[in-house]
Order: sequence, then C-alpha cells, then structure tokens
Amino acid sequence: AGPALEVRDLTVRYGRPVRFGGTAKTSPAVDGVSFDIAPGETLGLVGESGSGKSTIGKAILGLQPASAGQVLLHGSDITRASLRQRRVTAIDLRVVFQDPYSSLNPAQTIGKTLTEPLRVLRVPKDQHRPRAAEALAAVGLPADAIDRYPAQFSGGQRQRIAIARALVCDPQVIVLDEPVSSLDVSTQAQVLNLLADLRDARGLALLFIAHDLGVVRFLAQRAVVLYRGQVMESGPIEEVTQRPGHPYTIALTAAAPVPQPAEQARRRAAREALGIGTAGATPTAAGGCPFATRCPLVTDVCRTERVPLTPAVDSATSGAGWVVACHHAGQAAGMRPA
Ligand code: ATP
Ligand code: MG
Repeated sequence: AGPALEVRDLTVRYGRPVRFGGTAKTSPAVDGVSFDIAPGETLGLVGESGSGKSTIGKAILGLQPASAGQVLLHGSDITRASLRQRRVTAIDLRVVFQDPYSSLNPAQTIGKTLTEPLRVLRVPKDQHRPRAAEALAAVGLPADAIDRYPAQFSGGQRQRIAIARALVCDPQVIVLDEPVSSLDVSTQAQVLNLLADLRDARGLALLFIAHDLGVVRFLAQRAVVLYRGQVMESGPIEEVTQRPGHPYTIALTAAAPVPQPAEQARRRAAREALGIGTAGATPTAAGGCPFATRCPLVTDVCRTERVPLTPAVDSATSGAGWVVACHHAGQAAGMRPA
C-alpha cells in the first residue's frame, strides 16, 4: 500500500498577485512543499508563526485552493475536488483545530456536534448515536457526555470531544493543527498519549502541526521544517532533532521549550551564540534562501540562489529521506548546540 496522504509541490498564494512590470509582488504563503504520510505514521510539520503550516492544512482539506501542485488521498488527486467529491473524501480526511473553545458550538449538545458529520455524510440515522457513543468511549469520555454542552467540559476534555468528532467518521487521515497548543503541559501530555494510542490502534496517518520540535518529537516519526512557506529540512525525527542540518532547524531546536531550567539556559545561550532570534523575519530578495536575512552562515550565493533540498551530509550513516536546503549545510552541522 502506498502513502495515505501525499502533498506534491504544493504552492498556495492568497489573493491576487499585485503586478508591477509583469512580476508578481506577493510571495506565496506555501511555496513548492512536498511530503507524504504512510498509514500509521505521524509527520510533524513545524515552523514559526506565519510559516504557512495552517495554509498547508487548509489546502489539504480543500478549504483554501492550491495555486499549483497536488494533494493525493490514497493515490487519488483531490486537489481540485468538487464539493460533492469533498463530501466523499471528508469521510477519510478529518481535521482537529487548535482551539477547542471556538471549534465547538456552545449551543449544541456534544451528541449533536458529534453526529453532525454523519448527517452531512448521509450516514443512516440509526447509526448516529451508537457511533457518537463509540467515539466518546475511544477518547476516554463518559457516555453521559453525549447530552451535555461544551461549557461543562475543561479545555482538555473539549479537545477530546474535537478528536471524537474527527473519529466518528472512521477516517484514515487526520490533520491536527496545533491540537495541544492551547492546553496546559500536563493536559498536553494526556492528549498526545491519546493521539498516539488512537493512531496505533487504528493505523491513522497524522499530520501534526506545531510551532516547535519538542511537542512533535513525542508523536512523529518524521518532521518537515518550514520557513516562509518553503521546506528547509525534512527527514526522520531523530536526525532533524538530534543532528539538524539547516541553520534554521538549529535555531528552532535551540528555541524549543524544554522542562529543565539549566537546559533552557544552555539552549538560550546557544541560540544567542548563533545570533538567531525566533521572530522579526524580514523579506528576502526573490530567488535567494528565505532564511538568508537571519542566517549566521549567510554568503552572497544565499541571497541570490535558491537551494534545492539535498541529501544531508550525515545521511549515509542514517535513515533515508533526510534532506536539507542550505548552501552551507556542511558548516551548519558544526554549529549545533553541544
Ligand atoms: P501560526 O503558527 O501563527 O498558526 P502558520 O504557520 O499556520 O502560522 P499561516 O496561517 O499558514 O501560518 O499563514 C502563512 C502566511 O499566509 C502568513 O504570512 C499569513 O499572513 C498569510 N495568510 C494566512 N491566511 C491568510 C488569508 N486568509 N489571507 C491572506 N493571507 C493569509
Ligand atoms: Mg496556523
């Protein structure tokens, strides 16, 4: 069996490009991104705010049209699927958003919320309540939750309800857009454990979107690191987190929140030594590396020539499919925090 989900050279541009002398002024929010996810696998998609993570999620779900490239679900192209076709793909492809407060209708019982996708997907009515009950049980909520309202649940419980709503259709792929970012740390761990269990029990393919590699590392087998809509690095989670090959991944690793205060201080020092902040990106000239304006390794070539994703220097000793887009990837390796 092939991948459950494939994204090929996806490009998404918001609005109409403003043109001066025939050149597009707006840069795409997502620029030539490719990855795939196998059944039972989790792919972490990370990058700072505005890097295009949610836009990729929306394009996969058909909520934002792709300007170029393809999205394939079990090998069939759904990029330009009609609303009617989307109704069919929506059985297989579900989403969980970041904020369980705004994503659940406060005026509807949990039962109504959970059965809504079944109504839209025209599942026979006698199956609705049993399937809602089954989904609640799968996320560890009591059966009587079905007749209660969102306000009667905590943030973590609401996120379980949002997960149950995704599960009720028995999907094979779930896009999780920062599903634990709004939760406190101990609740985050519980929800991550739940997602791992559900994935393993049901062979779900998960696209896990997050700001930092720390959260992604818990669940994902592979990671894609995004910066200003472009993939900077992609590969097995151990390689990307332990031996990052791109200066931006190094900055992201150094910035990842870690529990130990000493470790935190060490990483902050490493980040400062690299001269890399995590905010304040300025636009780069078209064609160059998008990270050039913030990169400590920048040279002239970085400002003018876009770098293709290239097998990482250490990849001979490790898993396949580890790629880095950096003119100085060899040097970057020497800059990893000790
Ligand atoms: P965050 O971590 O803050 O959620 P993100 O990585 O999900 O960020 P996106 O929301 O995908 O980033 O945004 C990517 C880029 O596209 C940003 O520059 C953003 O301003 C722009 N953008 C997002 N949504 C729209 C929209 N509806 N119209 C125009 N531009 C948009
Ligand atoms: Mg987002």
